[in-house]
Amino acid sequence: MDYKFETRCIHRENEHEEGHPYGSVCTPIYQTATFYHPGIGQTTGFNYTRESNPTRTELEDIVTSLEEAKDTVACANGMAAIVLCMELFESGDHIVCSEDLYGGSVRMFQTTGEKRGLTFTYVNTADAAATEAAIKSNTKALYIETPSNPTMQITDLAKMKSLADKYNLLLIVDNTFLSPYFQKPIRFGADLVIHSGTKFLGGHNDTLAGFLSTSREDLAAKIRYLYKTVGSCLAPFDSYLLIRGIKTLPIRMERQQENALAIAKWLQTQKKIKQVYYIGLEDHPGYEINKKQTTGFGSMISIRTDSEATARRVLERIRLITYAESLGGVESLMTYPMLQTHGDVPVETRERLGITEDFLRFSVGIENVDDLIADLDQALNGED
Ligand SMILES: *Cc1c(COP(=O)(O)O)cnc(C)c1O
Repeated sequence: MDYKFETRCIHRENEHEEGHPYGSVCTPIYQTATFYHPGIGQTTGFNYTRESNPTRTELEDIVTSLEEAKDTVACANGMAAIVLCMELFESGDHIVCSEDLYGGSVRMFQTTGEKRGLTFTYVNTADAAATEAAIKSNTKALYIETPSNPTMQITDLAKMKSLADKYNLLLIVDNTFLSPYFQKPIRFGADLVIHSGTKFLGGHNDTLAGFLSTSREDLAAKIRYLYKTVGSCLAPFDSYLLIRGIKTLPIRMERQQENALAIAKWLQTQKKIKQVYYIGLEDHPGYEINKKQTTGFGSMISIRTDSEATARRVLERIRLITYAESLGGVESLMTYPMLQTHGDVPVETRERLGITEDFLRFSVGIENVDDLIADLDQALNGED
């Protein structure tokens, strides 16, 4: 793996020698459900698309390379990857998770996860002592998001790894918010890395995808078996869109981050904004730890306004920025976590975390930053 990250987003080693049919520069979409057998007991390497497909395999190889993993499976969406990951556990197993996880993960853990006999404890994993205190004799994994969603708490990955080693736990990191361009959890000892590929990896708000990568051969074999068994797979066309999206991941991330930093600083000067949660601001509580374990801060900003009225006013008045769920794409999107992404998180948890009526989440895209600030300015400060 000699090529650097940016090059690996676009090229495979030996891609000309092992080229595509007809010298196609881009990966063909193998829109086929099944593959013929050249003879009895023989295979072209592909049998049936639920198990594997050449377009998807190429995508999986790219993500494996970017995450510095041993293997990756591409799933229909992020939740499908998380459900697949949970299939690694047995009834009776306990998992300690970050307390402000993606709301869909919490919903899944509390419904189908618990129905399967798994139990979960939610703690502030930014606090290693609290995390250690939550570990029980049947705990099998730590499940982390850093930064967390949407309050942007930073968890120290090296500390989580030492807890995982001490108690013989799997370390699972949902790396959606920073992408492998800025954060490579496997370098810190993560066993499993999850992505909603719908977000930065896809990058264009035009398709859903998910990934489950592992640094371990033994887990890779189990995951491959579970993957074909439960049917998590990403379709060939969507795999193609992801390959296409990832080619520009580094330049998108850089521009999104640059825009986000400028916007976060501007927001801090606004009278109607009470608090700006952006991990690229030096006064953010996790700034130093994040800096130690990543090469950037990404482009997710959470905003506490001065009132519910201001939050609603902003959502109703933004014109360039779109009021929509999701994040990570080239289009700037703003959401209302209380009603949308975190609507299923129990009220007590939401209030404790501060996911209240005055709280907005902003995914900064690659538009011209002056246009974005002008839109925010008219939404916040314009005349009624
Ligand atoms: C969106 C998201 C998911 C779920 O991914 P989908 O592709 O929407 O299924 C999981 N984790 C995080 C951090 C997310 O932002």
